[in-house]
Amino acid sequence: MEQENDKQKHKKRGVAILGSTGSIGTQALEVIESYPELFDLQVITAGNNADLLIEQALKFNPNMVVIGDETQYNKVKEALWNEDIHVYCGADALCQVVQSTDVDVVLTALVGYAGLKPTIAAIEAKKDIALANKETLVVAGQLITAMAKSYGVNIYPVDSEHSAIFQCLPGEFMNPIEKIYLTASGGPFRGYSTEQLAQVTKAQALKHPNWSMGAKITIDSATMMNKGLEVIEAKWLFNLTAEQIDVVVHPQSIVHSLVQFEDGSMKAQMGLPDMKLPIQYALTFPYRLKTNYPRFNFMDYPNLTFETPDRITFKNLDLAYQAMDRDGTVPCALNAANEIAVQAFLDERIAFLDIARINEHVMNTVTHVSKPSLEDYIAIDLEARRMASLLVGK
Ligand code: NDP
Repeated sequence: MEQENDKQKHKKRGVAILGSTGSIGTQALEVIESYPELFDLQVITAGNNADLLIEQALKFNPNMVVIGDETQYNKVKEALWNEDIHVYCGADALCQVVQSTDVDVVLTALVGYAGLKPTIAAIEAKKDIALANKETLVVAGQLITAMAKSYGVNIYPVDSEHSAIFQCLPGEFMNPIEKIYLTASGGPFRGYSTEQLAQVTKAQALKHPNWSMGAKITIDSATMMNKGLEVIEAKWLFNLTAEQIDVVVHPQSIVHSLVQFEDGSMKAQMGLPDMKLPIQYALTFPYRLKTNYPRFNFMDYPNLTFETPDRITFKNLDLAYQAMDRDGTVPCALNAANEIAVQAFLDERIAFLDIARINEHVMNTVTHVSKPSLEDYIAIDLEARRMASLLVGK
């Protein structure tokens, strides 16, 4: 029995990393580099950072690489001409490479709506999903979870909060969840008034107190939209209602989230903030690998504190709850508006508070489909993007 367990634990898995040049992608490569005996890196992909993709390909020698930006195809192809690596480009290629027979698990570390179609393609090919790309579940949670169920595919959460909930669940199969508490750091503007938020700059918004992440999620954390997206993500991952999902601000980011069971007992998962841990747990579940990452020391954190989030000033969190309540294509519209508004804020074309204003207007104005198909999600995403683009003055 122990031998069989050991064999399973050390079985090599073919991995595809979509978005290998990003924050999650580069940390996933660190994990893979630490356990060469466990992972067989098959696929890496980038949007337009061809230089880093080439560097990663030369170092890790995957079977396939994809560069999203087609104008950079020749550059990548020429740099890798002497290697035994297949080079592809464009969005459709992402959907094809994840279906390779040598891929067992697909880590979706793309940012935004771009993750939706490759995730669907991976599920259709019965690949396990290690899901960082929360926007996929926000946009089309109903469709994705139904597909995963019918194809018998597991979705392992990478987001630290959802990984925390997931890590609290083994052994509790028979015990329904009463409630979960997603923790939030509160971001760089915790405690700010609306008047203060009106003045904040892009540089200030990009300085997250505890986590180093990609630009989009860092802005989402500052506006609290990230927590809103996570609430919707949690609904689909753990099959919960809005009333079962609460958010608590915990500025130290040590308690990564909590589950409360029907007897009132609560379980929390804790640790220093480091995304490598949830990434590796998603890739190796149910096994834990030995690491030498720094350990938590209680004496460094004599005060772990908890606060109620300010859903009036940080309106995005409230908008996400409303979108979840209205369901159908409303979360999809909210996500699309937010992607456009965040990019406009990063381009310094709108102010910080405009993000929530645009989100609210678009979410409440675009067409609503209550039982959407994939085509409906695609159409509403487009409609919401057009409307948001008009509002940011594109
Ligand atoms: P980054 O912006 O750092 O990286 C995004 C990756 O996706 C890059 O490799 C980028 O390529 C690629 N990419 C972006 N757009 C496209 C596109 N249209 N087509 C193909 N590739 C694309 O993001 P993060 O790593 O921070 O976040 C990734 C996902 O993980 C997000 O959904 C985020 O919410 C989630 N997440 C992130 C956490 C974190 O700590 N960073 C924590 C929890 C969840 P290129 O480099 O060429 O632009």
